[in-house]
Amino acid sequence: MKCRKCKALAAVALPSHNTAFCAECYPDFFRSQVERSIHRHKMIAPQERVLVAVSGGKDSLALIMQLQELGHDVHGLHVDLDIPDSSPEARRVCETFCESLNVPLTVVELRREGLSIPLVKSKIKRPICSVCGKLKRYYFNKFAIENNFSVLATGHNLDDEVSRLFANTVRWDSAYLSDQGPLLPATAGFASKIKPLYRLTEFEIANFCFLRGIEHVTAPCPYSAKASFPIYKGLWSDLETRMSGAKVQFYENFLRDGRPVFAAWADRKESALVACSSCGYPTSAETCGVCRIKNMVGQEQEA
Ligand code: SF4
Ligand code: ZN
Repeated sequence: MKCRKCKALAAVALPSHNTAFCAECYPDFFRSQVERSIHRHKMIAPQERVLVAVSGGKDSLALIMQLQELGHDVHGLHVDLDIPDSSPEARRVCETFCESLNVPLTVVELRREGLSIPLVKSKIKRPICSVCGKLKRYYFNKFAIENNFSVLATGHNLDDEVSRLFANTVRWDSAYLSDQGPLLPATAGFASKIKPLYRLTEFEIANFCFLRGIEHVTAPCPYSAKASFPIYKGLWSDLETRMSGAKVQFYENFLRDGRPVFAAWADRKESALVACSSCGYPTSAETCGVCRIKNMVGQEQEA
């Protein structure tokens, strides 16, 4: 197979795009996909500072590198989850990588908030990944708001988005379906959330990391076996093998035809958000989910 751009021997075949690229031209394809997403959804305004959530995994590191190369003013943010078997390595990888790019990085330590993922897991009987996701989203947003970042970028890729969309569809969860997409505009108390890698698959991002020599965390989180998304990812991987382009079609058609319907439903139902009585961030209850988690963990520790 030959490279679509220069006709040299191809190194990466992309069946869903019906094309292939050599090692030199592949990063141009990658960049154009990211640029296209940013422009199409007007994700970043000129001169806007972008806070990038970095976990140490391939997606977030590829994202921060690509955004910097596109000329955006980026700042990394890592949440140290205090998981003994994985957090020190994830933090080291983020610090080393951001230093090599000369990109500022801030680390928020859950332990300074009286929390850690193992502690929360031992005290709260809910799936740990959903609690962990809630904590990360809260601290990313809190840092963005308190440090005047109007845009928060995450490394969610097409496989993440398709799996999440599929999980929400299996449950017909209208509330989640109404706000799934590559851009969530800013509202009072929330920075805008963008996913510039949403058109790229894990395979495509892994190839970018390999060709650009990005060292990233490969060991899974010790709690990842409990996550449900890998099941959906496996199903979609099989489907994509049999029906090339199924993932992108499912997701793009949802954005075009499905999401507006659910968004209109959410507008009609919209429940007012109020300031959390404890931390002041927006919530639909009197106390936000994170403050309730902190209270539960604190009470258990005092008992
Ligand atoms: Fe958090 Fe679950 Fe991801 Fe581990 S696998 S980092 S617990 S969301
Ligand atoms: Zn709160």
